[in-house]
Amino acid sequence: MVRCWPSCREIVRMLGDTMRLPLLAVAATRVCVAVTVCVLCSSPAAAQRIDYSKLEIKTTDLGHGVYLLGWQGGDSLILVGDDGVLLVDTSVAPMGDKIKTAIARVSDKPIRLIINTHAHADHFGANEALAKGGAGIIAHDNLRERMAKGQYLAAFNQTIPPSVPAALPTVTYADALTIHFAGETVQLFHPPNAHTDNDTLVHFKRANVIHASGTIGGDGGYPFFDMSSGGSFAGMIVAEDKMLSLADDKTRIIADEGEPATTETLKASRDMLVALRARVQKLVDEGRSEDQAVAARPTRDFDARWVHQGNFVTGDTMTRLAYQSLKGIRPPTRP
Ligand SMILES: [Zn+2]
Repeated sequence: MVRCWPSCREIVRMLGDTMRLPLLAVAATRVCVAVTVCVLCSSPAAAQRIDYSKLEIKTTDLGHGVYLLGWQGGDSLILVGDDGVLLVDTSVAPMGDKIKTAIARVSDKPIRLIINTHAHADHFGANEALAKGGAGIIAHDNLRERMAKGQYLAAFNQTIPPSVPAALPTVTYADALTIHFAGETVQLFHPPNAHTDNDTLVHFKRANVIHASGTIGGDGGYPFFDMSSGGSFAGMIVAEDKMLSLADDKTRIIADEGEPATTETLKASRDMLVALRARVQKLVDEGRSEDQAVAARPTRDFDARWVHQGNFVTGDTMTRLAYQSLKGIRPPTRP
């Protein structure tokens, strides 16, 4: 059975639609933001809305053998060497062949290593197909566990099935790992509880490129964190601080989609998150309800920059995410 997972952009569109439904203004508002992404990931109805045959992969040369493979979803990176290719994120299963074709355009060597940045399906969906030639798969400890066990999303009573053994990481790590490949030093860092609880920031030192594992918003929008997968508002700030500590003014930062972000954008995102945290924390401390916090519009002066057309994370959504995270509201993890 081929599982059809929607891309991040498609999820964002659908969630944007969903968030406008009055139904969600009722009881589910509290949890809808965090869980709907994953629910839609596993929904056949959602998958039917995407025609992957029409999606094209755009290859961008970032220098020093590193290429960005962009396809409107969990964008991949490759590092091309004389003996093989290192691939960061495998995309959704139906895009696997296109990823292979895109790699073949710049290298006739096999995929040797795969890194999964986090356990959202547009980052590991084609693992099985792309590792078939013998590539090792590297990821954070929690990612393997989530893939192996599957995930339960309580608010929608949805279960994401366990991955087949051939798709699972073969090497996992806890805090940090350094890979030496094709003359490049590739450093992996785990920021705890950021976009998810299993993120890996991937730093290509020579090429001066960082894959952000979803911890920065695509196309310069508000970033999203998935609390049903262990993500948190505070963790996003820590992750962005970590990337800033690695970056200089020429670093390219890879979000899930869109053009690479600059260090300036990353710093602006971090500063916005820090300011927003203080504002929402104040509302929490004052005993305001979630709806009252939204009504206070703490993102008012940020929205012009960080809300983009097609991006589901509006100012109000960002406030709800921040409120829920800072108040420690967590979706249940089992039936
Ligand atoms: Zn993600």
